Amino acid sequence: MTLPTKCSFFNQDTQCDIPPTYILSVIEKEEYLIGVSCLEHLEPIKYKIKKLQQTKSIPNGRLKIENIKMVSTNCIKGSPEDYLDVYSKRLSEN
Ligand SMILES: [Zn+2]
Repeated sequence: MTLPTKCSFFNQDTQCDIPPTYILSVIEKEEYLIGVSCLEHLEPIKYKIKKLQQTKSIPNGRLKIENIKMVSTNCIKGSPEDYLDVYSKRLSEN
């Protein structure tokens, strides 16, 4: 899988361009990769994910946060790239 090179946080229409430290996924029956975050934006992205779960825009499972260095050696089930495109886009919407 290819991991994004930029943090998924958006301020207005501008994406944060800091390389991500964390990878955020939601575990419902499967694991859905939602986005990535730099050190600074972990809290705002977590908050955004919660809000999106309330509106059912993303799966309403348990949030999992992993260090990106650990993740790159593991295999994530499903098709993370597809989900990431969809969910990252939702993270960027207001
Ligand atoms: Zn960021």
